[in-house]
Amino acid sequence: MKFHMQVLIALGLGLKRNWHIFAGLVLGVLVGIWLHNEPSPVVMTTLTFIGQMFIRLIQMVVIPLVISAIVIGITSVGDSKQIGKLGSKMILYYGIITVIAVSIGAALALIMKPGLGAAHYINIDTAADIQAQVAATIEAQKGNLLNIVLGFIPKNPLASIASGDMVPIIVFAVMFSIALAKVGEINRPFVGFFESIFAATMKITDWIMCFAAPGVFALTAVAVSSFGIDIFMSISKYLGVLALGFAIQFFIVYPAFLKIFSKVPVLMLYAAMAEAMMVAFGTASSSATLPLTIACCEKRGISHKVSSFVLPLGATLNMDGTAMLQTIAVIFLTQAYGVALTPFLVVQIALLAIVASSTCAGIPGAGLITIALVLNGMGLSPEQLVAGFAFLFTIERITDMMRTLLNVTSDAVVCAAIADNENEINYDLLNNPESYGDIIN
Ligand code: ASP
Repeated sequence: MKFHMQVLIALGLGLKRNWHIFAGLVLGVLVGIWLHNEPSPVVMTTLTFIGQMFIRLIQMVVIPLVISAIVIGITSVGDSKQIGKLGSKMILYYGIITVIAVSIGAALALIMKPGLGAAHYINIDTAADIQAQVAATIEAQKGNLLNIVLGFIPKNPLASIASGDMVPIIVFAVMFSIALAKVGEINRPFVGFFESIFAATMKITDWIMCFAAPGVFALTAVAVSSFGIDIFMSISKYLGVLALGFAIQFFIVYPAFLKIFSKVPVLMLYAAMAEAMMVAFGTASSSATLPLTIACCEKRGISHKVSSFVLPLGATLNMDGTAMLQTIAVIFLTQAYGVALTPFLVVQIALLAIVASSTCAGIPGAGLITIALVLNGMGLSPEQLVAGFAFLFTIERITDMMRTLLNVTSDAVVCAAIADNENEINYDLLNNPESYGDIIN
């Protein structure tokens, strides 16, 4: 099939899956403007109910999604020495790319202050409550750093699950998964159990995403009705900061990374990955794109050995685009609610975003769900910040498409760098885009 046909298919796929959410957004703006001019308590109550239901539904799947993704990701690494070597290099490379992403995100958000424009839309009393709560949490944490570390280790994992304490849950899930990987074949029933949970939570998330159009519609309408149309003037700055951060990562960081750690020519790699990038943008899901990511790498010169190991884990664990978004979004919220951004708090947000993004499944909307984990570390929850979240939701889908494109591209960048280091690249093939075979048939 010709390349332009592949572009059309990918675009068609994206539009088919997303048009209703864009429609919900546009309709939400129109209804919001109407409600702004002619307030109707009944309509407002209904829309608030629908919006709240959407937020609660996505919160509902966080814990099973995070635990099962961790178990599947780590146990698929297995146990042999070779895997250990590849695994540590993979974690190092994914780690470097994600740390750079959160640093760029934090720097841009601190310099450009996208949240200040939203501040006057936030209720003063709510903002004061939030400021007090974050201050109390940070004060308590500062007072006893050792206790924070102790708090990461769950005394009772089930109690942590019941109370939704994400960091102890993750610590337990990671240790448990490494143990499962070590015990070998006997782990099959348990891993199978988590594969079922993961598949089922992905299905539920799929259903919830069907509700994304009315959810986004309701949230947008409520937001616009109480703020008026100028909300988009404030959100456009947030979108601009995101777009700039994503562009820096794509056009500067990945090429520099490949140059420093390998001799992979970036343009050849981007040409090889074009279909996967387009499908990532269209579907907003790293997991859905994974078969295509693997096909692009393997058919264009990267060995099966490296790509079948690095890419599936990357699709779950490596989410640099998501980490950047979470950092910018949480700094946006703190600015909007007038919470003082101390260096301690910024570092804490960045670290939590790294953890939250790597526990985030490669499905649409998961990055905004796991923001709850970052807020949790600051003593907050998304419900308290619902007005601020309404801003983020208005442009959630488009930012999801952009960050997923980054997530998938960085999986391929790390995969290619490792393949280069291990002499597992056929450069005659990779450097010859004319000889590339079809991917989408
Ligand atoms: N949709 C993203 C992905 O699949 C995850 C996220 O929501 O940030 O990579």
